[in-house]
Amino acid sequence: MWRLAGTSALRHLDRLGWNPVRHPDRASGRMGDMTEIDGMGTERATCVLAPNPSAMTLDGTNTWIIAEPGSEEAVVVDPGPKDGKHLKHVLDVVRAQGRRVGLVLLTHGHPDHSAGAGKFAKLAGGSVKVRALDPRHRLGDEGLAEGDVVTTGGLELRIMETPGHSDDSLTFWLPADGAVLTGDTVLGYGTTVVEGALGDYLSSLDRLRTFSADVEAATILPGHGPKLDDPIAVLDHYIDHRRERLAQVEAAVAAGARTAREVVERVYADVDKALWPAAEWSVQSQLDYLNRR
Ligand SMILES: [Zn+2]
Repeated sequence: MWRLAGTSALRHLDRLGWNPVRHPDRASGRMGDMTEIDGMGTERATCVLAPNPSAMTLDGTNTWIIAEPGSEEAVVVDPGPKDGKHLKHVLDVVRAQGRRVGLVLLTHGHPDHSAGAGKFAKLAGGSVKVRALDPRHRLGDEGLAEGDVVTTGGLELRIMETPGHSDDSLTFWLPADGAVLTGDTVLGYGTTVVEGALGDYLSSLDRLRTFSADVEAATILPGHGPKLDDPIAVLDHYIDHRRERLAQVEAAVAAGARTAREVVERVYADVDKALWPAAEWSVQSQLDYLNRR
């Protein structure tokens, strides 16, 4: 329970100006620019923006409709929150494309991505399944894991496990468009919350960086915020940001801090004390990581 509370406070730390990291191409703190996000995408992927903006979800959750040109079947990634109007709207967009929903996939189980999935599958038609890494979020008996290839409607979507933001976070590679669907592992701006082990998250970022370079990925399609057309620069930025924080913690330890609390007192002296418990939790996961290394 404390972990959930810490997570939400941490999101605020990241979102509300504490050690913010800005994407070089973008002004920070943009919210509500719906026209830019809703409808964006690639040849095969179209974003439908959910109406749930907040400090935690940026402009709202990005629901992705993905289909092969000429195909009558679409895959819907992250139907979003349990908001009947949004779910109906997603279905309307699929139908306006002259398609039906063949399958629902989840990048991870957080409710802003998954809570509407079951309801959406039912709206879309009796046999539509929901596939996810975490069995609790599936509808039907098929999971989703490292190495899986989804071929619904002639599509090719390759599944990678990229834990860190959450233990069940997945990334989807859409080779035909050179697009990487990152869920909340990489966002359109700002930085994400690491709820899982920091070592896992750093490994996931390194892996995505290497992968994106190898395949010459053209675009990141994130779970929140605008798409990003320079995946390598974005991933380098994320990796640098995490390294900077680790270096701050290491410096505090070298200067004599012995506990997470003592590190927080040094590194976050200018941050509102109400956020210290969350900062302490983040620092503890960094200390765990440094100790293990
Ligand atoms: Zn999210």
